[in-house]
Amino acid sequence: MYRNIGVIGAGTIGTGLAVDLVLHNINVVLVDAAVEALERSRAEILKVVRFAPLIKKSAPHLSVDEALERIHFVTDIAEVGACDFIVENATENVTIKEGIYRRLDRICQPDVCFGVNTSCIAITQIASFTARPERVIGMHFMNPVYLKAHVEVIRGYHTSEECIEIARGLLKLLEKEAIMVNDYPGFVSNRVSHLFMNEAAFVVQDQVATPKAVDDIFKKCYGHTMGPLETADLIGLDTVVNSLDVLYQSYQDPKFRCCPLLRKMVAAGLLGTKSGQGFYKYSK
Ligand code: NAD
Repeated sequence: MYRNIGVIGAGTIGTGLAVDLVLHNINVVLVDAAVEALERSRAEILKVVRFAPLIKKSAPHLSVDEALERIHFVTDIAEVGACDFIVENATENVTIKEGIYRRLDRICQPDVCFGVNTSCIAITQIASFTARPERVIGMHFMNPVYLKAHVEVIRGYHTSEECIEIARGLLKLLEKEAIMVNDYPGFVSNRVSHLFMNEAAFVVQDQVATPKAVDDIFKKCYGHTMGPLETADLIGLDTVVNSLDVLYQSYQDPKFRCCPLLRKMVAAGLLGTKSGQGFYKYSK
């Protein structure tokens, strides 16, 4: 049932998921609309395969050749037609995701389940783009995927118990556990966390404190592992902005209006760790 997994989107999270699947002996068809994204993803996957055993003791020693044998890098989504399960991780944009799901619904066998990896878009809305809403489930993997033992799993309005069990089965193979929640935009994680990342950006914009001081308060005073601005850099500031826009549109609540500084940074190409600079600078 989980021999071949279709992973749509080879960005930050799709790449992390693909490498985790490969490290657990599962074959992957990795699809991205952009050839450059696939090339970046390939390089990142090979880097993680080399370093994974040093970072995570239980990770298998896999040669680069073995890893490459298990991943098929493609630009044509039709290549996932024979996959047993799909996890979609494309850009956080409803129109883009709608196009992908309408296509997937035609390409994939009718019994194949679709795991939606989205930060904020309601799973019930995504499911409505298919003729199999009972086989669509939210699977909110956290970054970096292969180091995280828990996944926020979202039950859409029509998601069936069978689909939940199939998703749990895949997570079990990845040594992960589901934390089940119901479907409203942003679920639990991002509905709450984007408020504090956004407000932290306003605090920097208002020159109340430097990014380091903001993050130090969360880490040193509250005992958090990472501060809100480090977290935003890790997620990708473009993804954070897209998610805030989805939350704002969904709830029509001004508390989700995106901080202008975040938008300005994205326009300037400061996307966080993935571009080498966000609230902090990163060596490539
Ligand atoms: P990203 O921008 O790094 O990658 C998105 C990828 O999707 C890009 O490579 C893009 O070329 C590709 N894409 C766009 N349209 C496509 C199409 N039609 N077909 C195939 N590929 C297409 O984004 P990301 O951070 O990896 O996020 C992807 C999804 O996962 C988003 O919905 C995001 O909200 C969610 N997510 C992100 C994180 C995170 O920490 N970054 C965590 C959990 C969930």
